[in-house]
Amino acid sequence: MDLGSMICTPINPTCKNCPIQNKCKSFQLNLQNMIPVKTSKSQKKEKNINWLLIASKDKVLLKRNVNKGIWQNLWLFPEANSLNYEKFNLLEEKESLPLIVHNLSHQKLSIFTKKYFLKNKDRLPIDRRGFVWVNKKESVKMGIPKPVKTILENHL
Ligand code: SF4
Repeated sequence: MDLGSMICTPINPTCKNCPIQNKCKSFQLNLQNMIPVKTSKSQKKEKNINWLLIASKDKVLLKRNVNKGIWQNLWLFPEANSLNYEKFNLLEEKESLPLIVHNLSHQKLSIFTKKYFLKNKDRLPIDRRGFVWVNKKESVKMGIPKPVKTILENHL
């Protein structure tokens, strides 16, 4: 018999049917609903993400995520560490967007996004195998995860 799943359940254990009732300290102390202490499930791993929302007059820059794990092969914004100093100098900083906290089953993501404007998008050298300029209106139809969609819909 699986005592833990059938009798000694976390809520309202059926002590009257329990084969070890006479040895159970919780039962003797009438603390069946408190002992053993229920520990919460293992804590989610926390991760910070720093995205750059880079937009020209009519286009926005997206980057395909080739990393294994979450959002593999979806389109995301470039991460802050994907541009070097010279490239940053071409951008006009606009604003920091509100923090987005996105919960996955095993991870809690804190997403920080800075918005930049680029007057002439052709001046920014990009690796065309991984980056793409997308028409702003079309961008939400790309294969994108929910936080990217939220940012595109609210901050373009
Ligand atoms: S007697 Fe103790 S071990 Fe048995 S069900 Fe009750 S609390 Fe659980």
